[in-house]
Amino acid sequence: MTGALMPTYNRIDIAFERGEGCWLFAEDGRRYLDFASGIAVNALGHCHPKIVAALEEQGRKLWHVSNLYRIPQSERLAERLCANSFADRIFFTNSGVEAVECGIKLVRKYHDETGQPQRWRIVTCEGAFHGRTLTALAAAGNPKYLAGFAPEVPGFDRVAFGNLNELRAAVTDETAAILMEPIQGEGGIRAADLDFMRALRETCDEFGLLLFLDEVQCGMGRSGKLFAHQWAGIEPDVLATAKGIGSGFPLGACLATAKAAQGMTAGTHGSTYGGNPLAAAVGNAVLDEVLADGFLERVEARGRQLGSRLERLVAKHPKVYAQARGAGLLRGIQCHPPAGKLLEALRQSGLLTVPAAENVLRIVPPLVVSEAEIDQAADILDRVADAIGTDTQAAWVTP
Ligand SMILES: *Cc1c(COP(=O)(O)O)cnc(C)c1O
Repeated sequence: MTGALMPTYNRIDIAFERGEGCWLFAEDGRRYLDFASGIAVNALGHCHPKIVAALEEQGRKLWHVSNLYRIPQSERLAERLCANSFADRIFFTNSGVEAVECGIKLVRKYHDETGQPQRWRIVTCEGAFHGRTLTALAAAGNPKYLAGFAPEVPGFDRVAFGNLNELRAAVTDETAAILMEPIQGEGGIRAADLDFMRALRETCDEFGLLLFLDEVQCGMGRSGKLFAHQWAGIEPDVLATAKGIGSGFPLGACLATAKAAQGMTAGTHGSTYGGNPLAAAVGNAVLDEVLADGFLERVEARGRQLGSRLERLVAKHPKVYAQARGAGLLRGIQCHPPAGKLLEALRQSGLLTVPAAENVLRIVPPLVVSEAEIDQAADILDRVADAIGTDTQAAWVTP
């Protein structure tokens, strides 16, 4: 590995040269079942023909013009996202953290605009992950990620995830919003209780706060609905999404109601690339698939299949697997042995997963995963648990 890259990542020593659907092919010819999806990004798997075609077609016409001009592709994507969600206004970004940052600015601007500029603090949850800018790090408050980057950006009050009393007690005259992930991804696939989500909405209404959801990971169909909060039957005021929205093309979005976004007028925010013709063309092609008849129903069905396979693995290997977590195709399995050891053994057996906090392995296949592929992955999880349980080296099995 080259020393020319900043060594900020603990990279696994594999380079892939090709991907197809749920499969990745390494330079050494091995193939892997990809249940990592580039960290819950490749919603349509690798090289889906429809998005390849959209990219090629737009790539031959026009890539980038900046937001100095109208971008019809991005207007269309925004209209379609609004038509299928709570939102009336969209701001496009290139990443998840920029969508979160846009939401934080929007929240402050809303209260400034409505005559309450003293409301600028945001209540956030422990175990959260909102990205790696200084502001997003302060919002999540993970000491591991903040270390060495002092001073911490002010304005965030952290409470335990899912504790309504603590959350209500943290609201003051300076509180502007509550920011949380309906399903914490990085934090260990911890799903908020649906009643808690409904109580959050009521709390926001009671105190005049904006409800700001980070659905960068759990949104765009991964939970089995377009957005995870829809399971609770509530609507937020602001929502950040990214990961699956471009299925691998860097794209993110901040969604808001017209009321919440009223302060975001000309000149208040910007991005050079955000929602450029190439990104928006890919985003529209991804959305064509995700909104197609039966797509989300299939995600839900595959999610149920994966969930019940994970439950059975926990019952069968209680010394290896502690708990199955998650919803839809955003799943996790908490491990007894170090999750890193399992991740390594699974990879050697041809299955890719992602680590998360609380010794959890994230299991996040492309949303187009087949029934047979989920069975294959579960069989590998089963065999690796057998091997780890008897302390033998997990053997390489070509899936
Ligand atoms: C990945 C993630 C982010 C940050 O997204 P980037 O594209 O890495 O900036 C923010 N919030 C959540 C919930 C995430 O999972």
